[in-house]
Amino acid sequence: MKNQLAWPYPIRWNEKTEVDGIDVLVLGGGVAGCWAAISAAEQGARVTLVEKGATIRSGASGSGCDHWESAATNPCSKVTPEELTQAMIDDNHGYNNGISHYIECREGYDRLLDMERMGAKIRDIDNEFVGAEFRDEETKLLFAYDYENRFTLRVWGSTFKPALYRECKRLGVRIFDRTMATGLLTEQGEMGARIVGAAAVEGRTGELFLFKAKSTVLCMSRPTRIWLFSPEHPGISEFRPPQCTGDGHAMGWNAGVEFAMMEKSVKAEWSGDRSFPPYSTGNNHNTWFACSMVDAEGKELPWLDRDGKVLSSISERYRPAEGQKFFIKGGGESDFPSYQFRGPDTPPVQELLKQGYKLPFYADLPSMPAHERRAIWGLMVGEEGKTKIPILKKYRESGFDPDRDLLQSYGDGWKSATFLPEERQLFGLPGGIMNNWHLGTNLEGLYAAGDQLFASNCHGHAAATGHYAGRHAARYAREAAEPTISSSQVEEERARVFSPIQRSSGVHWKDLAHQIARTMQQYCGATKSDELLKAGLARIKEIYVGAASELCAADPHELLRSLETLNVLTNAELVIHACLARQASSKQLHFIRTDYPDLDPPAWHKFVTVRKSRDGTTVGQKAIDYYGPLREEYEATNGDYLSKRR
Ligand SMILES: Cc1cc2nc3c(=O)[nH]c(=O)nc-3n(C[C@H](O)[C@H](O)[C@H](O)COP(=O)(O)OP(=O)(O)OC[C@H]3O[C@@H](n4cnc5c(N)ncnc54)[C@H](O)[C@@H]3O)c2cc1C
Repeated sequence: MKNQLAWPYPIRWNEKTEVDGIDVLVLGGGVAGCWAAISAAEQGARVTLVEKGATIRSGASGSGCDHWESAATNPCSKVTPEELTQAMIDDNHGYNNGISHYIECREGYDRLLDMERMGAKIRDIDNEFVGAEFRDEETKLLFAYDYENRFTLRVWGSTFKPALYRECKRLGVRIFDRTMATGLLTEQGEMGARIVGAAAVEGRTGELFLFKAKSTVLCMSRPTRIWLFSPEHPGISEFRPPQCTGDGHAMGWNAGVEFAMMEKSVKAEWSGDRSFPPYSTGNNHNTWFACSMVDAEGKELPWLDRDGKVLSSISERYRPAEGQKFFIKGGGESDFPSYQFRGPDTPPVQELLKQGYKLPFYADLPSMPAHERRAIWGLMVGEEGKTKIPILKKYRESGFDPDRDLLQSYGDGWKSATFLPEERQLFGLPGGIMNNWHLGTNLEGLYAAGDQLFASNCHGHAAATGHYAGRHAARYAREAAEPTISSSQVEEERARVFSPIQRSSGVHWKDLAHQIARTMQQYCGATKSDELLKAGLARIKEIYVGAASELCAADPHELLRSLETLNVLTNAELVIHACLARQASSKQLHFIRTDYPDLDPPAWHKFVTVRKSRDGTTVGQKAIDYYGPLREEYEATNGDYLSKRR
């Protein structure tokens, strides 16, 4: 065709391959997925991993990770897993995943040591930071944030994914790269029944794959693009990588999986046309903690401890306040940090402006001590996901010199832009799959890990929960009956998946994506009510019968983008159902209902759950501390792991 490249791979729309003999099927080959595959294979399970991208570099940590959080059992840590998990729960007023974060705190450091054994770099073996305050000279481990309590490590995360990939290969995991899982298969095709595998489409040929498995682990990250979409620059429509479109949530919803906290969304912090690439602008949080900042006239912004005491040295920014045991991260990482765990920070931008400081602000790397400067610009910005090439390398090539140059800040604080209230995102600790102590879901044979779990975040959490879910799934598979898949469900899925290629003209996926984002901004924005949410659901129904059923795709690339966008639509519906189910406003959940304005009434201090059922949506609830005593429950569920590591 004129002006169009021919599709470079053979097309196999009509071919169908059944893959069986699988004990553990892992969907998503990011951090959690690779770890799930590794631990299941170590238990002798026959493991298959299905990844939409290329496992060697796919997912949010594919190109890096600069800090590994909550490794409470590392030899330098002064906090226990119990203390740290409880702090994370309390700092979020209970709205946190006690189970998954305890696993993170308890097993994260085990995974880091495994990473090292696999050839990844976790300590300063090249002695680049000898003598730095954040280095432990004996172990050569480097720490971030709280230098006193030392539970978050600075690491060389760009070495991690290739090492995990090699380990999967070494253990004989069958990897299907560039293959998008599209739907879960259930026993007899029934919603809510045991999960017996998944359907998937190969992204180059369009071939249909059916994976028949005794157990399945969902590791496909969290939903994105629900409120934000940039048709011109779809690649920056979200902070997370473009392959992560929340397919796992949509698949789970359609199969009857139970979700929690999906009503929580925050005003966007990154993404879309407004945003500069993450970590590319001057700031003083997260990766950039605790960089000095100056205003437009070169006046330095003050740093304060939790009591408002001005900190006179840079070193104090990395220490707890007087009388404080430890702080979590630092620089206002929690949405509403509690006094107990609040770290040092600069005052809010509006406060600074009132005090006469002038915009724009700049990160002042040159004034930082050499070790801190090189840790921020080089180790952190460099090893952080997405920064090595587009930021560190490009800025260097363009002449940026951290020893000499200031870097401008945009938006507030560490965000890369200022957003409108209705421009929202599932960011920080958003909703996701409700889990038990096995990281099992409400459906038999189905497990979840990493960013697919509710209130989940971070690399160490994904690694620890991935490993944990993999071994529990393998244990289930040992006793489980052989799976059988329903041919009528397969035929239904085949018809659904290939419907966009039946049309030579129709709606393009970008138009559908744009419609969804507009709908959600309009009806499920910063303020919500029954009327708005129900109007939103009605609009979503119209989209299903309208634009969504007229999607057209010319090749496998467009087919995958279309299927992803249908998943975004399903996730938008899931979010609205969750918003309807919580009939109370909540500060912590950033959830404001004009028809239920009371903020956090005690009767609603609980997890509200939603799942799709044959007769509509089933709403449930779980106590805010449903997971019970952390240490006891964990030890009762993981005896074999503990005995092996003793
Ligand atoms: C820019 C950036 C920087 C970050 N920096 C840090 C950091 O320094 N420290 C830290 O602790 N955390 C960091 N995070 C968060 C951390 O990367 C994530 O929490 C972690 O990667 C989650 O792991 P996961 O396996 O759940 O998801 P991912 O690692 O994102 O993996 C999900 C995988 O699922 C695949 N997938 C999606 N849909 C399908 C489908 N339908 N079929 C098959 N496969 C599918 C994707 O391709 C992807 O490979 C950062 C995140 C981003 C985006």
